[in-house]
Amino acid sequence: MKAIQIYATGGPEVLKLAELPIPQPGPGQVLIRVEATGVNFIEVYFRKGVYKASLPLTPGSEAAGTVEELGPGVVGFKAGDAVASTGVLGSYAEYALVAAAQLVKIPEGLTMEQAAAAMLQGMTAHYLSHSTFPLKAGNTALVHAGAGGVGLLLTQIAAKLGARVITTVSTAAKAELSREAGASEAILYTEQDFETEVKHLTGGKGVDVVYDSVGKTTFDGSLNCLRPRGMLALFGASSGPVPPFDLIQLSGKGSLFVTRPTLWHYIATRAELEWRAGDVLGWAAKGELQLRTEHRYPLAEAGQAQTDLEGRKTTGKILLEP
Ligand code: NDP
Repeated sequence: MKAIQIYATGGPEVLKLAELPIPQPGPGQVLIRVEATGVNFIEVYFRKGVYKASLPLTPGSEAAGTVEELGPGVVGFKAGDAVASTGVLGSYAEYALVAAAQLVKIPEGLTMEQAAAAMLQGMTAHYLSHSTFPLKAGNTALVHAGAGGVGLLLTQIAAKLGARVITTVSTAAKAELSREAGASEAILYTEQDFETEVKHLTGGKGVDVVYDSVGKTTFDGSLNCLRPRGMLALFGASSGPVPPFDLIQLSGKGSLFVTRPTLWHYIATRAELEWRAGDVLGWAAKGELQLRTEHRYPLAEAGQAQTDLEGRKTTGKILLEP
């Protein structure tokens, strides 16, 4: 089978197309034929060596595809089932293994592309808005990178929950997309000071929660946008990691809460996985959650896909189609 391999960490050029044997499913595992796999920032961190993994490595964890073969002891799935997961072991490939416990069936009415596009970023948007800081009508949220993959989904879900959503984006075109997704205001943080704008838009009060995936360049401003006892959910580092931080600042800025959540801890049980995947895939199938899947690349162009993601060239989801 064709698969992407990383033999040494580095730039996008280290993503090499290789010929590998099709893996065999072990106990509790399922072999899937990958139809679409999501490109996510986490694979950039692994490629660069920011997150450590043993090499060689086939990157990727999010995919939709068909069940090819079941390992010993697997129940609840059969060959030919349309499935999706964020726990695939190396999804930048034509075939990949996944633990049955991490796999969900794709509901009727959803394509493979849509399912691959919805899983990781959709469930992230779900846990941030339903569990990390459960939004309710009357809340105001600030979402950074509002036209990004998570950003567009989080904005839609937050607006559905009745929250007022203010976003930040880098271009006017992205601002338009963000407003279409439900943002009441989209701030061009490349041209305007978002902290000043947020204070102005909230009458000096500040927002209840900031969902910050940008990190280094936004962290300080995000804290300053919060109302007393508000929460900063720092869930990414698209601009780089936040430097060490003195907790006493949280007191001075209004007894604030900061959390650094990760999806895996919010889908750790089968019940939570089924709840979040069921909601997200179900909303997408009914057309209640719009998925943006215009960025598609063949497997061999994985390096280009990651370059475009890192280069702020994309909006919504990026997919590789083996
Ligand atoms: P996005 O589609 O949001 O792409 C990143 C966006 O960040 C860019 O489009 C850009 O939007 C913005 N950005 C701001 N500064 C920079 C910079 N210096 N370099 C690059 N981009 C920048 O990506 P995803 O939706 O895939 O992921 C968003 C973030 O969320 C990532 O950091 C990812 O690691 C994290 N994440 C965390 C999860 C968790 O559970 N903790 C799960 C999933 C994702 P603009 O041009 O508008 O500024």
